[in-house]
Amino acid sequence: MRARDPQKRSRDFKEVALGLTKAQAVKEAKRCLQCKKPRCVEGCPVEIEIPRFIAAIKDNDFSGGLAVIREYNMLPAICGRVCPQENQCQGGCILGKKSKPIAIGALERFVADYETATEQSESPVCIDGNGHKVAIVGSGPAGLTAAADLARLGYDITIFEALHEPGGVLTYGIPEFRLPKKIIHREIERIKNLGVKILLNWVIGRTQTVDELFQEGFKAIFIGVGAGSPKYMNIPGENLNNVYFASEFLTRVNLMKANQFPAYDTPVKKSKRVAVIGGGNVAMDSARTAMRLGAEKVYIVYRRTEDEMPCRLEEVEHAKEEAIELLLLVNPKEIIGDERGYVKAIRCDKMVLCETDESGRRKPNCSGEEFTIEVDQVIMAIGQTSNPVLVKSVKGLDLWGAGYITTDCDGRTNIPGIFAGGDISTGAATIISAMGAGKRAARAIDAYIKETASLTSQF
Ligand code: FAD
Ligand code: SF4
Repeated sequence: MRARDPQKRSRDFKEVALGLTKAQAVKEAKRCLQCKKPRCVEGCPVEIEIPRFIAAIKDNDFSGGLAVIREYNMLPAICGRVCPQENQCQGGCILGKKSKPIAIGALERFVADYETATEQSESPVCIDGNGHKVAIVGSGPAGLTAAADLARLGYDITIFEALHEPGGVLTYGIPEFRLPKKIIHREIERIKNLGVKILLNWVIGRTQTVDELFQEGFKAIFIGVGAGSPKYMNIPGENLNNVYFASEFLTRVNLMKANQFPAYDTPVKKSKRVAVIGGGNVAMDSARTAMRLGAEKVYIVYRRTEDEMPCRLEEVEHAKEEAIELLLLVNPKEIIGDERGYVKAIRCDKMVLCETDESGRRKPNCSGEEFTIEVDQVIMAIGQTSNPVLVKSVKGLDLWGAGYITTDCDGRTNIPGIFAGGDISTGAATIISAMGAGKRAARAIDAYIKETASLTSQF
């Protein structure tokens, strides 16, 4: 896919990847073999009929292709940009065995963008309501998907969202240069057109409890509150000035627009030499954001090698093109401050890879060698964990690990009527897996309400 010039793009927040042209999209669609047993579909957590949407593109029927995707996925312009297709649909594509797999994600993005470019819009959809209310807590990909699927089945849906903008990580975490906000707004508008209501600044567990929602007549509740709390390394110096956790750093810039301070109220410290700790998408997003805020030097500090990095291949490639330096097999052991309590350096261990650990990756061990890097800002991006506000407020809810909600594979919790899915039940994962969980839970909620309502002959 075409992308903007690295030197120019690394100093602004405009979108990096430019998408396929019409001719490129049709040419790519023509390569598809229209397999009888499409392995691409097996790799898609929301089971889009991929060969059918590609066939429509081949025939120049771009709205037809988009309509096929929307039967399964209400966020195509988002997924086409940020889903890890290389491990999912594209990873399964038969053509990948001998040459390049079909660029399924790029085609998905193309049909969604084509609709926007040709200014096709959709008015509110009229759906016969069944009179049953369902509450969705959290407006990330899991909540939005559950909401859309239930609304299409006739349920009266209200989403409760803690922040002042909907979208979850899509809005507050993923930067504008990867996923422009106008794309998110457009896809959420389409979900609202199904009749879904979104109440913002509404923290379930504080503003209102789950019990109160049941008392208000909601027949079922889906919890999709994500895993937004930061993980700590617990090394000396983590509390120094100018050490940020990635979620805070990215939220300041993406949601609160700190890059436009003082036009917007929230500031963010702009630094010259930045070290980002971690090797996932969050680390890449933080590093590339720091560069765009004007840093002279940005390091990614990662304790394994590039092969083990959990981020998307495209992200690390783009980061390297933007002059971000990877410090591999390096683990920070202390953040050093100056006399005023501000970061001035990090002391690191040089690592070696040893035997494979429980994650299936080779385990990094200290080599005994250490060194120091001079930096004036550190961004910790070593992962996120569950936020206790809601889960602790629901008495008797079964949890696992660090406070994640235990569910069966359709999102049922141990409490009848309460369902959950996405990062809050799996731990930090991906957009499409959260959407898949929202979809399965919507089916289970429909079955649950029909079953309980039939007992009182309300359906
Ligand atoms: P979230 O997206 O976290 O949404 C949860 C929502 O619930 C939030 O809006 C939150 O404010 C709200 N909430 C929380 N508590 C309450 C409460 N008590 N009451 C009301 N509302 C509440 N995945 C990919 O596939 N590709 C990527 O490129 C990618 N990049 C990423 C980059 C970053 C910086 C981050 C942090 C994650 C990235 N991920 C990526 C992971 C992906 O975004 C998540 O797996 C996904 O968003 C999880 O969706 P979710 O709906 O479970 O939760
Ligand atoms: Fe087309 Fe590849 Fe899917 Fe086969 S596996 S239908 S070639 S996208």
